[in-house]
Amino acid sequence: MKQLPYDEIQIRDLEVFAHHGVFSEETKLGQKFLVSLTMYTNTRTAGISDCLAQSIDYGAVCRFMTTFLREHTYHLIEAAAEHLASALLQQFPLLCGVMLEIKKPWAPIGLPLDTVSIKIQRFWHDAYIGLGSNLGDKRGYLDFAVERLRQSAGCRVKEISSYMVTKPYGGVAQDDFLNACLHLQTYLPPMELLGVLHGIEQEAHRERVIHWGPRTLDLDILLYDDLVMETELLTIPHLQMHLRDFVLQPLAQIAPYLKHPVLGKTIACLAKEREQESETCP
Ligand code: ADP
Ligand code: MG
Repeated sequence: MKQLPYDEIQIRDLEVFAHHGVFSEETKLGQKFLVSLTMYTNTRTAGISDCLAQSIDYGAVCRFMTTFLREHTYHLIEAAAEHLASALLQQFPLLCGVMLEIKKPWAPIGLPLDTVSIKIQRFWHDAYIGLGSNLGDKRGYLDFAVERLRQSAGCRVKEISSYMVTKPYGGVAQDDFLNACLHLQTYLPPMELLGVLHGIEQEAHRERVIHWGPRTLDLDILLYDDLVMETELLTIPHLQMHLRDFVLQPLAQIAPYLKHPVLGKTIACLAKEREQESETCP
């Protein structure tokens, strides 16, 4: 989560001899890289307990980065940094995010320079996913989606609502739905996350035949931190989430005090409003 300012643990200019580069000499002979890392975390518990087990062991981090950069070979330092940042976020659970810089002091460009470097910031984000199924083994499809998300690189399933039976939406005559919401932590950017969800839908043999028609599995991004975005393929927050009981009810179960970043109301409040509306005009 990104609410409070983070504490930082910093590693500066760790020297690693490795084999990254576009030129074959670079991958053959190797060269020196300097790695700097800012670890965004919360050191309060370790600060009070004075116990290493409650913090991130920076020695272990240095060894991990050294081994990683020696064991892999990339053409670009962009790729080395990207993969290393992902690996660090997966490996060290207390990390909320990293700023990673890789410098190349011996970049072979035939001109004098101090260093050339890449610096990236990568964070775990909080996403809320809506799940729905109204064809075949509905429970089985929702279980399948949760399992696939658990196995997806860059995703951590934190909490799942109960599965709720709901009436179909959008005026197409069809079977009842089974719906749920889950809290996912991910370092994937929104479009990549949507790609993962589409991949899982396809694995569940979803056919996009009738809009709002029956489907084995529907996976939507409801919220992603407090991001507000609109592109042709992806709108966040999900455009209809505040109008759908079958989203608000399960979401209110796991995140009642989460705020909708456009409407400025909590999910519990939106769910209540929606309930009252359907009582007056069902
Ligand atoms: P719905 O989920 O509204 O019932 P679909 O699942 O058929 O409809 O979605 C159609 C398209 O909606 C997707 O291919 C996707 O590109 C787009 N879309 C826009 N915003 C989102 C979002 N937040 N989550 C998932 N899909 C979205
Ligand atoms: Mg969808």
